[in-house]
Amino acid sequence: MKYPKIKRTYCPKCRKHTEHAVSVSSRKARGKAHPQSEAQRRFKAKLKGYGSFPRPNPKGDGKPTKKIDIRLKCKACSKSHTMGGGGFRAKKFEIKGK
Ligand SMILES: [Zn+2]
Repeated sequence: MKYPKIKRTYCPKCRKHTEHAVSVSSRKARGKAHPQSEAQRRFKAKLKGYGSFPRPNPKGDGKPTKKIDIRLKCKACSKSHTMGGGGFRAKKFEIKGK
């Protein structure tokens, strides 16, 4: 989806509606679990069936869409905040330049 570069929205610092510069902060992909970490070793043992019946290997590529983390920077106080509700999901996202 396309999103405007400047949005007039509520600023928690100014406690009123002001113009905000929109930017997207890329959510960092979670790194792979450390192979030797305690939790990882426990998990591997579990997959092999130690403790209880073998657990099926986890599969799948997760979700097809990503949650977009929008940062709104207030033009009046230059404080930035994120969009409430943790943003929204979209496959494609671009900021429409004005
Ligand atoms: Zn503000």
